[in-house]
Amino acid sequence: RLALDRVARTFDGVAVVDDLSLEIAAGEVLCLLGPSGCGKTTTLRIAAGVERQSSGRVLLEGVVVSDANRHEPPERRSVGLMFQDFALFPHLDIAANIAFGLSGPKRERGAVAERFLERVGLKGFGGKYPHMLSGGEQQRVALARALAPNPRVMLMDEPFSGLDNRLRDAVRDQALSILKAEGTAVLLVTHDPEEAMRMADRIALMRKGRIVQTGAPYNVYNRPVDREAASFLSDVN
Ligand code: ATP
Repeated sequence: RLALDRVARTFDGVAVVDDLSLEIAAGEVLCLLGPSGCGKTTTLRIAAGVERQSSGRVLLEGVVVSDANRHEPPERRSVGLMFQDFALFPHLDIAANIAFGLSGPKRERGAVAERFLERVGLKGFGGKYPHMLSGGEQQRVALARALAPNPRVMLMDEPFSGLDNRLRDAVRDQALSILKAEGTAVLLVTHDPEEAMRMADRIALMRKGRIVQTGAPYNVYNRPVDREAASFLSDVN
């Protein structure tokens, strides 16, 4: 469960995120959808804790992890991160890449890494190095790495945009089914209406730092809040 409560962020006096609130339940995928520069990534960075909001609160599982008085760093939050350019560590093998964020005895970490490799369909890849894998395989390793610590919340920023169409469908369907099975709350940032339509339980349409419309994909698509939203959403093929 993730909640942002009236979060704002200004850079040099300009509000990039402006009084934004959202809630994501366990097992729910919320897509933050909007044009380039509307503040999506900043919102996700605030949720992760790598960026601190100027005002407002961030709650995980109902507990405040960031407000005016306190700020839990990313590593103390139960969140998984998956970014398009969040590369694997080139000098570590695949198993070590996945085990990187885990704690406990080495043997146990290795076993968890193996289990998650199997879940993303890459059993037996543990001893390979990132450069030996295709783009799609690397994305699946990144997914396994993000999932292995069993985060309650997954934050994904355009995670599939580096893949060609066919691979993208396969990887995102697989990601979705694993995240659903784990009951993870997912905040997925995208500028691509088609991706949002495909992935989201709910879409939050963002513009100039604010959410202008929230709803089930079908409703947002069929009843856009205004002309600008309609024109943006019409990019779906
Ligand atoms: P994109 O889809 O292109 O990644 P976005 O919706 O994710 O865009 P953000 O990356 O959140 O948008 O950026 C929103 C605005 O905030 C942009 O105008 C950006 O230049 C500005 N911005 C982001 N980070 C900083 C920073 N550290 N300092 C100053 N301005 C920033």
